Amino acid sequence: MFETLSDRLTSVFTSLRGKGRLSEEDINSTAREIRLALLEADVALPVVRDFIARVKERARGEEVSRALNPAQQVIKIVNEELVEILGGETREIRFATKAPPTVIMLAGLQGTGKTTLAGKLGMWLAGERNTPLLVAADLQRPNAVTQLQVVGERASVPVFAPQPGNGVGDPVEVARESVEHARRNNHNVVIIDTAGRLGVDSEMMQQAADIRDAVEPNEILFVVDAMIGQDAVNTAQAFLDGVGYDAVALTKLDGDARGGAALSIRHVTDRPIMFASTGEKLEDFDLFHPDRMASRILDMGDMLTLIEQAQKTFEESEVEKMASTLASEDDFTLDDFLQQMSMVRKMGPISNLLGMMPGMGQMKDQIGDVDDKDLDRITAIIQSMTPAERANPKIINGSRRLRIANGSGTQVSDVNGLVTRFFEAQKMMRQMKNGGMPGMPGMPGQ
Ligand code: GDP
Repeated sequence: MFETLSDRLTSVFTSLRGKGRLSEEDINSTAREIRLALLEADVALPVVRDFIARVKERARGEEVSRALNPAQQVIKIVNEELVEILGGETREIRFATKAPPTVIMLAGLQGTGKTTLAGKLGMWLAGERNTPLLVAADLQRPNAVTQLQVVGERASVPVFAPQPGNGVGDPVEVARESVEHARRNNHNVVIIDTAGRLGVDSEMMQQAADIRDAVEPNEILFVVDAMIGQDAVNTAQAFLDGVGYDAVALTKLDGDARGGAALSIRHVTDRPIMFASTGEKLEDFDLFHPDRMASRILDMGDMLTLIEQAQKTFEESEVEKMASTLASEDDFTLDDFLQQMSMVRKMGPISNLLGMMPGMGQMKDQIGDVDDKDLDRITAIIQSMTPAERANPKIINGSRRLRIANGSGTQVSDVNGLVTRFFEAQKMMRQMKNGGMPGMPGMPGQ
């Protein structure tokens, strides 16, 4: 799903690695690359334009946190804008509050996966403790009714189909009767499968509009095949004009390498995507979650968690201290070392992700897995040193080591280990000061 866009965006972010800050030129070239990535993903032009304008504006703005490096800042912005363009919040079904059943009508072209979707939706709703009824109001195709019955059986959801006495040949009548039937038989949701054509046609639209008027659905879902890409936008518009709908169900997302339909349709139609169908099996179906979809596109779930966590965990003052340590001319001291270590400790279970943080990957290697006990011991050792020793650990000779070990209740080998780790960290900090950030070893594609 959306492999093309994922790959392109990953390489955009990779090209920002190692940068200390974002220049105007960086922002422009990044925006250009993202624009190309979106166009290549078959996203509609007005959507691309808006997206790029927002990303640029935000990247230039002051909102970006100092806890993040430029690549992370851009990832954060792109992620949030993707969520926005995919609809923001997850849209839930609006159930009838007064008089059940809730009526959900499906509309869309033939072959989009409407009948399959009816079965999936029915099964999903049944799993959420509803008592759905599927309705075969597609009387156009000779085997449409049978197909829905087969799907209904597989999904273990009853199907209402035209029989002598309930509207043979008239889909509007079938739909109307199905609602009555549901009411009598305690079905709280009715899912009406309507007829589609291969292309947009006025007779089909009229029929769908007649069914709509007869049953006054709580939700009309426009079902669209994601694999047709940006073309979905045209069909979506035609259905909006012809029948109108409340939300979109995207099918065949599993076969969509580009993502144009998913990324364009909300913006163009101003209707949310409510469901995603991701395979031929009845289970391949769920509510559409814009945030999850965005992180799937970015293919950086861990990175996004880290960004969120980093912002929450790091107090601004600590970030500033860290930043000033990095920026200062003074050499890295044992006090700085201690401060860094407690920062790492604070990040707790996510410290394993440190490999992705600017400069933290190597720092984590130096420090190893610190637990609270380690940190206490290290703190005790450093606090048993004189200010002169802390500022210039080179003077810590054998007798000083013994004194420090005794003073902190540790072994000389602990003091030795700490001093060695410190010198390695100091070496790394010097390299960072001279050559900028050492990059982000944990980032994909590196
Ligand atoms: P309808 O004409 O709109 O009712 O479409 P159908 O429900 O008959 O589906 C058309 C074809 O698409 C069938 O072969 C389905 O198995 C297939 N299909 C439906 N949904 C999906 C999906 O999410 N992924 C994939 N790969 N195929 C699907």
